[in-house]
Amino acid sequence: MRPLDIAIVPCLSDNYAYLVHDADAGLCAVIDPSEAPPVDKALAARGWKLTHILNTHHHFDHTGGNLPLKQTTGARVVGPAKDRARIPGIDEGVEEGKDWRFGRRAVRVLEIPAHTRAHIAFVFDDAAFTGDTLFAMGCGRLFEGTPEMMWASLTKLMNLPDATRVFCGHEYTQSNGRFALTLEPDNAALASRMKEVDAARAKGIPTVPSTMALEKQTNPFLRPNSAELRRSLGLESASDVEVFAETRRRKDNF
Ligand code: ZN
Ligand code: FE
Repeated sequence: MRPLDIAIVPCLSDNYAYLVHDADAGLCAVIDPSEAPPVDKALAARGWKLTHILNTHHHFDHTGGNLPLKQTTGARVVGPAKDRARIPGIDEGVEEGKDWRFGRRAVRVLEIPAHTRAHIAFVFDDAAFTGDTLFAMGCGRLFEGTPEMMWASLTKLMNLPDATRVFCGHEYTQSNGRFALTLEPDNAALASRMKEVDAARAKGIPTVPSTMALEKQTNPFLRPNSAELRRSLGLESASDVEVFAETRRRKDNF
């Protein structure tokens, strides 16, 4: 099998949709289309034909393109089985434990709730599409879940191999990194990543994908084991989930 082609499609003001193209099978999926026009343009530029629309969660900035794209291409809409009622145009619900097939590939579905109660990730080979659960140096807000749920979801993603590429739902990296530096000013990996991020953003270049290895080194929400982070929060002896919850609270007010 040839590797998949993955294209980044900027949408709205700071969303990313992604095209995943299987040249062998002649399949192309879009993940989290906020809106149809940029997706149509990206498909036309590459000569790819849309066959699937995948959603990580129901929010409008991840599903707004579902119906127009389905109407013009006939693509099949796939989303979290546990949230069928909130996924526009859904044809097929998927859940963890049952791989979803994309051509000859088995695609892993991970249930990672808390941003929404039925949020999922799709893992194609070494590429994880994490929606609004895991961002580059950040994590999603807890709209429909508890800190315990989000910590369990992030732990599940941390169990993916370090080389896993992380494709997230928004370009929030620079502001996430600024927040991270307030908690871990002495984290050298974080400081050097921020230099790269600032340079990329100055040129308008996306900061995705990152990797799980890099997230573990620089994402404060994955670092409750960091002594510096704990000192900054005044939580030297708290549990990991308490450290995570306080980090999330501070970010909400940053
Ligand atoms: Zn969202
Ligand atoms: Fe979003």
